[in-house]
Amino acid sequence: MLHVQSKGQSKGDTKMTLLQKTAVVTGSNSGIGLGVVRELARAGANVVLNSFTDRDEDHALAADIAKEFGVEARYIKADMSKGDECRALIEKAGTCDILVNNAGIQHVEPIESFPVDKWDAIIAINMSSAFHTTAAALPGMRAAGWGRVINIASAHGLTASPFKSAYVAAKHGVVGLTKVTALETAREPITCNAICPGYVSTPLVESQIPDTMEKYGKSREEVLDMLLERQPSKEMATVEQLGGTCVFLCSDAAAQMTGTTLSVDGGWTAL
Ligand code: NAD
Repeated sequence: MLHVQSKGQSKGDTKMTLLQKTAVVTGSNSGIGLGVVRELARAGANVVLNSFTDRDEDHALAADIAKEFGVEARYIKADMSKGDECRALIEKAGTCDILVNNAGIQHVEPIESFPVDKWDAIIAINMSSAFHTTAAALPGMRAAGWGRVINIASAHGLTASPFKSAYVAAKHGVVGLTKVTALETAREPITCNAICPGYVSTPLVESQIPDTMEKYGKSREEVLDMLLERQPSKEMATVEQLGGTCVFLCSDAAAQMTGTTLSVDGGWTAL
């Protein structure tokens, strides 16, 4: 049987508008997550910001976004290293049409001295959280007849680097989870895709540059050359570009894209 518009394409409407949709973005009080929240809000979505802190400035960030884009914006504290808090985030959000699993941390050390607590935290925050939030969000997406799950993986979800064992394992796991989620929702108006960024200009990445300059006695250009050794464009992506990729994946144009990985990596994985 032919299923027309089975992946949730809206009839005749080709605009990138996410009015009436609610997006939950994990780990979104800084960096890529905040960029994603802003671009989804710019496209008209109501947004739920999240992190593990509960500061006045977190809630102020949501209020500023609501004012700037004329959407509803809330901040909900939930620690993505804890499965029950991941599930509670989706419950507290009430509606979750768009789920962006973005929260992530990193640690760099050889396998034999890699601290077990750091391994556990990276696997939990970068990978298991996406399992919990997705499990909690799918029933609501099914009931609403539309849903988009977007997992922020990494070029390290497709390639590897030494000393990043937990990060590389977690990001490969996220790519695998993306494919399974896509297969389990393949006949429904729900899609699940992963975005694999190379280096992205975030406050955290930028803040590491002066330290590295001092440590190795190198200029900013030399440090960027080192950092971007594997990124042929020799430029970092911006958080707005990552947000734009998420908006695209929510658009009608992407309604038949599911279970795929979109590399936003300046050519890293083409090498
Ligand atoms: P970031 O440190 O700026 O942001 C990480 C976010 O996760 C923050 O909002 C932080 O508060 C949140 N977070 C950390 N621990 C959490 C927890 N226990 N519970 C809830 N939230 C938590 O880093 P970023 O560069 O914006 O990274 C965002 C995502 O993009 C990560 O998954 C990262 O692996 C991925 N990524 C980043 C780059 C890059 O170059 N910046 C490249 C590839 C992939």
